[in-house]
Amino acid sequence: MAKKTVLVTGASRGIGKAAAVKFAKKGYNVVINCVHNEDRLMQAKKDIESFQTSCMAFVGDVGDWDTCASMFQAVKKQFGSIDVLVNNAGISYIGLLQDMSSADWDRIVKTNLTSVFNCCRLAVPDMVAAKSGKIINISSVWGVTGASCEVAYSATKGGINAFSKALAKELAPSNIQVNAIACGAIDTEMNRWMEEDDLISLVEEIPAGRLGKAEEVADLIYHLAYKSNYLTGQVIGLDGGWI
Ligand code: NDP
Repeated sequence: MAKKTVLVTGASRGIGKAAAVKFAKKGYNVVINCVHNEDRLMQAKKDIESFQTSCMAFVGDVGDWDTCASMFQAVKKQFGSIDVLVNNAGISYIGLLQDMSSADWDRIVKTNLTSVFNCCRLAVPDMVAAKSGKIINISSVWGVTGASCEVAYSATKGGINAFSKALAKELAPSNIQVNAIACGAIDTEMNRWMEEDDLISLVEEIPAGRLGKAEEVADLIYHLAYKSNYLTGQVIGLDGGWI
């Protein structure tokens, strides 16, 4: 059987890297991407290749259409079409809306939401032709409830949730499943800005009594990539019972 190919955006560290490693262990061809930390992306490539699988690393901003088009062209040349797309790249912005510049707004919308459009738009035609494919979008509990001082971030993640539900309906007749994972607080560099006291208070609010692990998100991503073709259009919470 031909090897399957997964593309994970934002995979130089954190959840994206954990997901890429998970697929590597399962024998997929793995495509990883990031925009800033090329060294770490190359280290992730080495780690993935240690599982005797092929890995392509592509440096570029997934919020930019032309960059994504080049990435998909390169992937097609090396591996053919993509079987699983994990839209994971994301940034946060903490601060009052009234202090946010329109440049920061544009940056977060492009990185978190336009990137999902770009990669889905480029992946879907081949998936439709193959009558199979899985799209997993990494969202947040803030996209469901909204968070003070994270208005833009919440809006992008809420957008991903609606995008996932709508695209799932559009693609179900073509046997392509689209789901989103609404993560709670996961122990990655995205949360390293928090002071020790804030972290303790946060953990006290989480019934599971701890932050989630990137590997736990990776397990759910993989599960959605190979399990039931009847599970689609869902925003699945992974938050230790927090929300
Ligand atoms: P990290 O900050 O650890 O990793 C983010 C990744 O995205 C990095 O690989 C980063 O690489 C990449 N990235 C950022 N901007 C771009 C871009 N424009 N183009 C390509 N890659 C980019 O965060 P997490 O692993 O925690 O986050 C992963 C996803 O999970 C995000 O979508 C986040 O919103 C979501 N999430 C995380 C939660 C958490 O508590 N950690 C909670 C809820 C959701 P580089 O900087 O090198 O480009």
